[in-house]
Amino acid sequence: MNISILKSQLALGEAALLLSEENTRYFTSFPSTNAALLVTKDTALYWTDSRYLEEAQRTVTGCDDVLELKTLKDSVAPAVVSCGAKSLLLEGARITVKRYETLRALFPSCTVDADRLDTLVDHIRAVKTDEEVAAVTRAQRIAETALRGLLPEIRPGAVERELQLMLDVAMLRGGAEALSFDTILISGSNTSKPHGVPTDKKIARGDFVTIDFGAVVRGYHSDMTRTFAVGEVSDKMKQVYDTVLAAQTAGLAALFPGKTGKEIDTVSRDVIAQAGFGECFGHGLGHGVGVEIHENPVLNQRSDWVLQQGHIVTVEPGIYLPGEFGVRIEDMALITPDGCRSLTDFEKDLIIL
Ligand code: ZN
Ligand code: ZN
Repeated sequence: MNISILKSQLALGEAALLLSEENTRYFTSFPSTNAALLVTKDTALYWTDSRYLEEAQRTVTGCDDVLELKTLKDSVAPAVVSCGAKSLLLEGARITVKRYETLRALFPSCTVDADRLDTLVDHIRAVKTDEEVAAVTRAQRIAETALRGLLPEIRPGAVERELQLMLDVAMLRGGAEALSFDTILISGSNTSKPHGVPTDKKIARGDFVTIDFGAVVRGYHSDMTRTFAVGEVSDKMKQVYDTVLAAQTAGLAALFPGKTGKEIDTVSRDVIAQAGFGECFGHGLGHGVGVEIHENPVLNQRSDWVLQQGHIVTVEPGIYLPGEFGVRIEDMALITPDGCRSLTDFEKDLIIL
């Protein structure tokens, strides 16, 4: 249980108060938009409001008690005092300034730390259990199946937003509880914007179509990108596609426990730079995926995260030529003792539809 890992990493006298939707769900497996989780070395208490309470009492795991949340002052503060906390750890990266000030005022005799908990939780969350890997993999299978079903619909005259809608519905029908994020389905010159938004534009012969999307299963996200050609490709389109594919393949091959996020990013970035497109790859190479679509470890030039077994990361280089077109290819991979195992099962050689 992930909550016991957090317990084991807390010192005597420390109490961690988690309030964010993603972290309270992560540690209890229960989704609530209004919950509090108090964890010390030897106890864990959970509160949520009356809308969720009955279901929470039935399903929350790993906690000593599941209680009704009225206000933090009335419900949670007495428990913090009675557990004898000297130091209160807060999710500094996830709470508002206002909430931070309120909590500090509630516990004048505690030192309040808004850094340590984020680091602890980020590291615990980065390493996935078999169950978490299974949920991400299931989400990915749903996304792939939806994409396969969409391919015959991607043809000249089809509208970006209509195709996006078809893909979204197919994922939800296929068992996704939600979409990982607003699906990106863009074509032609729109593909030069890495996070372009689908429009009423019709697909035309000679377009690239880039689709970046994912499904959610049991709170866990998937993430993949493919770029397809419609009808025909120019030599330049082919050259850019092959370069991105080479960079993506090299990045995946470089994944290994002990490597840093920066080292992996550099491997892919060098392939793109050597082909003369160094200026056209502005974003980082990849990111962790879990109960949030973007989490640690990140793969970019600023990342000193050291990869370890159980991390799940995306590898998603791209080349974007403003006014012309762009290409991105993205897979998810699980770090294993001897490298990585791709969680994506969808061909990457250029498909001309
Ligand atoms: Zn993506
Ligand atoms: Zn991604």
